[in-house]
Amino acid sequence: MVFENVSSILKRVSNYMGLSESEIYVLSSFKRIKREEIELNGNKYPAWRIVHNDALGPGKGGIRFHPNVSEDEVKSLSFWMSIKNSLAGIPFGGAKGGVKVDPKTLSPEELEELSRKYIRAFHDVIGENKDVPAPDVYTNPTIMGWMLDEYEKIKERHEPGMITGKPIVLGGCKFRGTSTSKGGFIIFEEILSTIEKKDVTIAVQGFGNAGYNFAKMAYDEGYKVVAVSDSKGGIYDENGLNIDEVKKIKSEKGTVIEFDAQKISNKEILELDVDFLILAALENQITENNVENIKARNIIELANGPVTPEADKRLFERGIFVVPDILANSGGVIGSYFEWIQNKTGGAFESSYLEERFEKMMKENYSKVYEVYKRDGVDMRTAAYSLAIRRILDAEKARGRI
Ligand code: NAD
Repeated sequence: MVFENVSSILKRVSNYMGLSESEIYVLSSFKRIKREEIELNGNKYPAWRIVHNDALGPGKGGIRFHPNVSEDEVKSLSFWMSIKNSLAGIPFGGAKGGVKVDPKTLSPEELEELSRKYIRAFHDVIGENKDVPAPDVYTNPTIMGWMLDEYEKIKERHEPGMITGKPIVLGGCKFRGTSTSKGGFIIFEEILSTIEKKDVTIAVQGFGNAGYNFAKMAYDEGYKVVAVSDSKGGIYDENGLNIDEVKKIKSEKGTVIEFDAQKISNKEILELDVDFLILAALENQITENNVENIKARNIIELANGPVTPEADKRLFERGIFVVPDILANSGGVIGSYFEWIQNKTGGAFESSYLEERFEKMMKENYSKVYEVYKRDGVDMRTAAYSLAIRRILDAEKARGRI
């Protein structure tokens, strides 16, 4: 997502909300942009940590290691985190970090060195009450563990809440691992409660953390998952796939297409005639080129940005119900929020308490957005953005900044 995309969404939602010049100015401004260069083995890698807005609380957002990372991208993603955190109703602003590097070219020792150097470069702008990083593309709990260790060494104190997505033994939260899919699944059941048909068919694109866990939850609850796919392609069975067996094959052979079922392409899975299409792989999957072929009645965006803005408009015109990423995959940030609270209080919640609280938050957030969608006749994405923006602006006003 480039910043132009962010600006176009902001413009569309601002028109709908009737925002003033000063409100738009606040939303288009950044609280902090810090850039550094990290030296490793004679190479210099550009690195960033950017906070878009912190009116609601400390910055919160992942750190990405990827060759395409740019300032434009980190800015866009930090804006997007402000929106997502605000909509989720949690006390965080939006932030993002990144290093322009191809981590696949680094040895494990170099990866650790890079992660520690990132903290040495940015420790002054992060902290549990300032800006709280997490994993993102090509970063993971192991890297979060190294980063926590480096940070605590520099500060000469323990502060596990300075980063989330940590290994469990360092204060990570077990619940976080499946919270993204769980949130999407709760929304799926909310939609189901509003439609007549109950014997629904589901197709899931992507069989990683988000996609597999969603498919597994649906399968365990007796729903019919007729198709799944990964980067190699997809499989289809009109009577429903046994997700446990598919997972076994995926673990043994590396791909779902080795499972004994009808093979379909990744293009075909998107165009299946199903009640629910779960997008859990990559960005830009439904575009101007295939939007007219989409036959699913409902789409849940577990992946970030899987539908382009042009395609989004057409889906709305065609009456296809789309739950936008900022709502559908917000279970992940809510899981991180639970981890942060536990770290700050030094306590550990019962998992039954976390599950109950999580479900309540997801349902309330979904119904808030749905109400605006019904009331104003706008698409779910516009409804979600408007609520998120309103909460940020209310916090800005309460601080006397507008
Ligand atoms: P992952 O790497 O675990 O899984 C990605 C899956 O997509 C893999 O099965 C891969 O084979 C598949 N894939 C890749 N290219 C594909 C293609 N062309 N067609 C079909 N499948 C393809 O990643 P993940 O954590 O499951 O994340 C998936 C998406 O969800 C990403 O957009 C991510 O940003 C988003 N997301 C994930 C979380 C989370 O907590 N895991 C939170 C928020 C958003």
